[in-house]
Amino acid sequence: MLGLMQDWPLTVDKILDRAARYFGDTEIVTRRTDGSVHRTNYAQVHARAKQVSGALKGLGIAAGDRVGTLAWNGARHMESWYGAMGIGAVLHTLNPRLHPDQLAWIINHAQDRVLIFDTSFLPLVEAVRERVSVEHYVIIADAAEMPENQLDAICYEDWIAAAGVDTPWGGFDENSACGLCYTSGTTGNPKGVLYSHRSNTIHAMMAISKDCFDLGSHDTVMPVVPMFHANAWALAFAGPMAGAKMVMPGPGLDGRSIHELLTDERVTLTAAVPTLWMGLLEYMRANDLALPWLKRVCIGGSALPERILRAFEEDYGVEVGHAWGMTECSPIGSVSHVPRDLADAPLDEVLPHKLAQGIPLFGTELRVIDKAGEPVARGSGDSGNLQIRGVAVVSSYFGGEGGEILDTDNWFDTGDLAALDAEGAIHLTDRSKDVIKSGGEWISSIDLENAVLSHPLVSNAAAIAIPNEKWGERPLLIIQPEAGPAPTEEELRSFLDGRIASWWMPDEFRFVEAIPLGATGKVNKLKLREMYADGELAAI
Ligand code: AMP
Repeated sequence: MLGLMQDWPLTVDKILDRAARYFGDTEIVTRRTDGSVHRTNYAQVHARAKQVSGALKGLGIAAGDRVGTLAWNGARHMESWYGAMGIGAVLHTLNPRLHPDQLAWIINHAQDRVLIFDTSFLPLVEAVRERVSVEHYVIIADAAEMPENQLDAICYEDWIAAAGVDTPWGGFDENSACGLCYTSGTTGNPKGVLYSHRSNTIHAMMAISKDCFDLGSHDTVMPVVPMFHANAWALAFAGPMAGAKMVMPGPGLDGRSIHELLTDERVTLTAAVPTLWMGLLEYMRANDLALPWLKRVCIGGSALPERILRAFEEDYGVEVGHAWGMTECSPIGSVSHVPRDLADAPLDEVLPHKLAQGIPLFGTELRVIDKAGEPVARGSGDSGNLQIRGVAVVSSYFGGEGGEILDTDNWFDTGDLAALDAEGAIHLTDRSKDVIKSGGEWISSIDLENAVLSHPLVSNAAAIAIPNEKWGERPLLIIQPEAGPAPTEEELRSFLDGRIASWWMPDEFRFVEAIPLGATGKVNKLKLREMYADGELAAI
C-alpha cells in the first residue's frame, strides 16, 4: 500500500523561492574583485535569477543543457546558478585554479554550451577558447565594466536586463540533473559528478542540521570554500534554505580580507579547508585581533591539525566542526561527534573526538572493510578501506567515465583509509595512495603531518613516501616554516620523539618556502613527489 501524501518534487528552485518569500530583505553581501562591497537581498537575487533563466532561454538553452561558470563566490554567481538550475539546465562549476589544458578538457567533456565568468578570468577563457566548443560567453559585468575581448562576449547586466522576471521554474522530475562538478583528478582524467535536484535538496537539509552547520535564519554565513568546490560544501543551497544572511568573499581569501568581513558583517558561521585558516590565524595573532561574532567554523577537505582546533576554541572561543567529505558525496560524508557524556567536558578530553572525522549524517552510511572485504570492528584499531552509500552519493560518473564504481550493495569506495573508534566514528588514517608502507606496515602521513604541525615554528607540512631498498618505502617530511627562524632538523626530531612511534621517524626532512597547494587549497602531494624525483627538494 502506498502512502497518500502529495508528490512535491524536491527541486532547488523552491529553495530560493522560499528565501525570497519569507526572507526577502535578508542580505547577500559580496566583496567584489575590485575590493568594493556590494549588497543585495534574497528578493532581488530571486528576481535577477529569474532574469538569468529568461536570458538563457533566449540563447536556446533547454533542460539538460550544461551551463558553465568560472567565478568567485558572489551574489551574481549565485543568481546564475539558480537561473540555470531553475529551468532544468545543468550548472557546471569550473575551478579557475586548474591548468588551462585541464580546464579545456573538462569544458569539452561536459559540453558546456554557455560559459558565464568573472572579468578577472578573461585571460584564462581566451587561452582555452580555440580548444573548446562553447557557443556563448557571458562576462559578469555591467556595460561600463565590459573589457575588450576576442570572444564576442555578452555583457551579463545588459543580457539579464532585457529578460523578464516571469520565466517559470521547476515542473521537472526531482531526479533531473542539477549540477556538475569534476573531481580533483589526481589520477587519470577528471571525473564529473552529476548532482540531482533531489540529492542537492536533501543534502542541504542534512547540512543545515544542528550537528553539522547548525544554520538558521538568525545566522550570517560566509562560505569561504569556493562555490566551485562541491557547491561551497552545500552552503549555496543551505544558506538560502535556512534564510541566513550570506557573505560572499570574492577572490580576497587572505587573512586580512577574511577577518574584515567576519567582523564587519558579524558572520556567525564560516567554512573552508585548514590551509585557509592558517592564514587567518597567523594574521590575527600578528595583529592581536579577536573574533567577536563568529560562533562556529566548519573545517574539512583535509585533516584538521590540532593547532588550528586549539587556536579557534581556546584563543578565540569559536566552536570547531570538523567534516569529512568528497565531491562524490555532495560533499559532506561525516562530521566529528562529541559523545553526550562529554558535552561539557574540557577541550583536552573532547579533542580526540573533534580531531576524528566523526559519524555520518542521516542519509549517509559509512563502513570500513579489511583486505578480505570484511567490515572491521569498532574500537579494533584496524584500518581499512572507507566506503560510503546514501541519498547524495554518486552512482556513476558523468559520461560513464571509470565504468562501474559501486559494488553489488551500492558501496562506493572512497579511496580513503580509516579506523573506527568504539562509538563508530571514523578516524581517517590516509588516502590509500598517500599511505607510506614501511616493511609492510603502514605509516599514516596524516598523523605524521599533524604531529609536526603542533610545533610552533612549523606553518605547514607534508609527508610523502620515498623508495627505500630495505623497507620498500620510508617517510620524507617536508616542512614549510613560519616566518622568522626555521627549526633545525635536530629540533624537529626531538620534538617528534615520543609523539610518534619510533619507526615512523622520518628518514629525511626538507624545508620549502611554500608547500604547493592544489586547486582546492589542499597540499599537492603529486607535485611534491615530482619535485622530489626531479631533485628540486634540496636537503637542509
Ligand atoms: P575532494 O573531492 O576534492 O573534496 O577530495 C576529497 C578527499 O579529501 C577525501 O577523499 C579525503 O581524502 C580528503 N578529506 C576530506 N575531508 C577530510 C578530513 N576531514 N580529513 C582528512 N581528509 C579529508
